[in-house]
Amino acid sequence: TADRTYATVNPFTGETEREFEALAGDQVTAVVDRAHTAFLDWRQRTVAERAAVVGRAADLMTERSDALAALITKEMGKRIQEAAGEVALAASILRYYADKAEQFLAPRTIEVMKGEAVVVNEPTGVLFAVEPWNYPLYQVVRVAGPNLTLGNTIVLKHAENVPQCALALEELFRDAGAPEGVYTNVFLRISDTEQVIAHPAVQGVTLTGSERAGSSVAALAGKHLKKSVLELGGSDPFVVLDTPDLARTVKAATMGRMANTGQACIAAKRIIVLADVWDEFVAGIQQAFGGFTPGDPADPATTLGPLSTERAAADLHAQITDAVDKGATVLAGGGRPDRPGAFVEATLLTDVTPGMRAFSEELFGPAAVLYKVQTEDEAVALANDSAYGLSAVVYSGDVERARAVADRLESGMVWINQPSGSSAELPFGGVKRSGYGRELSELGMFEFANRRLVRTL
Ligand code: NAP
Repeated sequence: TADRTYATVNPFTGETEREFEALAGDQVTAVVDRAHTAFLDWRQRTVAERAAVVGRAADLMTERSDALAALITKEMGKRIQEAAGEVALAASILRYYADKAEQFLAPRTIEVMKGEAVVVNEPTGVLFAVEPWNYPLYQVVRVAGPNLTLGNTIVLKHAENVPQCALALEELFRDAGAPEGVYTNVFLRISDTEQVIAHPAVQGVTLTGSERAGSSVAALAGKHLKKSVLELGGSDPFVVLDTPDLARTVKAATMGRMANTGQACIAAKRIIVLADVWDEFVAGIQQAFGGFTPGDPADPATTLGPLSTERAAADLHAQITDAVDKGATVLAGGGRPDRPGAFVEATLLTDVTPGMRAFSEELFGPAAVLYKVQTEDEAVALANDSAYGLSAVVYSGDVERARAVADRLESGMVWINQPSGSSAELPFGGVKRSGYGRELSELGMFEFANRRLVRTL
């Protein structure tokens, strides 16, 4: 709604710690104007100059790691060690673009019969980015690293529950030497989104978040003829074909599902297991899920943190309850622990069938659905029976067997004998309702670039 407020609400305590005013509607154009003015200068700098700013941002992020991690934990409940891991990953992404930008952006020559043809890489203008709370730093640097080195400027609307992370990022780029307007945080009302997208200086729109938000922003981008990139939800399959190393496979499925308290787009949400190894796999994962105990995410010993908000916990619990009411079997957890905070137990469901929400919807928290299948064909059909297509995982002692199954899965990424992950040099993105376009790697550099032909005779 139009009146959403930006606030730090600690999901462990439920306390509202700070609130922030949204930008007044009549100030929106001025913010984009400033980002455009900044662009006209920023685009003239050399790649090396821009990369130096991004490199300093990487160093500052590392220097500020403890404070940033604490802020992530406070605002969205990530366990402190995972928060420190996110800061390190985000800094490595900024470093990667600082180091690689000149190489990636170098002109490419095309062989022609006569004269010369070169494709040069130029920035396009102001980029509007809408980002989610689940990895409050990582999500932002996926956009900022490539685009700031390329020469675009950024107006960023972060999620309403991570306003202090949002401000810390703006401060970081400012302290790294980004001129005013190169990176601007906006506490924007959803109802003012169109004003930004419609502004003639805005040349691209990128969003990571839900299908609902993605569809709404992409519709506006289409209306105003702006290119968009969407990184949306997922309900990734984790296919277990055989288990020569049961402990390792169980651990990977558990980590793949439970990292970030299950709030990852590429989490292993549907675990599909061949009947031959079902019993031993289920016994193993039940034991693993039984080991998660809710606690203070700021305490490094805690194994299960809260979800990002009370509403997120209630929504996930409703999805679990819907399945159980319709006949699903609970193999672990299933409820909300008897304590304050936005917690949901580490949950394993099976006997989930079409018609239950848990069959078709994304479960954005610590709950996995286990499916038993008789054949590889059945595993592939079930894995692909999803509106989403973000990442996928296949485990087998026989790599060729795993690859053959992986080839048949509909996804933007597929990982063999490893849980899905992300790092600076690997492209990230999906197909189907998981969105379009790619972030990270060299590919992430060109989504909002003008790959301009210069032909000389
Ligand atoms: P969300 O509600 O869509 O929020 C994401 C961002 O979009 C927030 O900044 C939100 O602002 C904004 N937003 C929401 N509705 C909007 C609208 N109509 N117009 C403009 N902006 C809008 O997402 P969520 O449910 O909190 O986040 C989790 C989702 O993100 C999951 O589906 C997850 O799978 C997905 N995700 C995808 C990736 C990926 O790379 N593919 C990575 C991480 C997460 P407010 O906070 O102010 O509402």
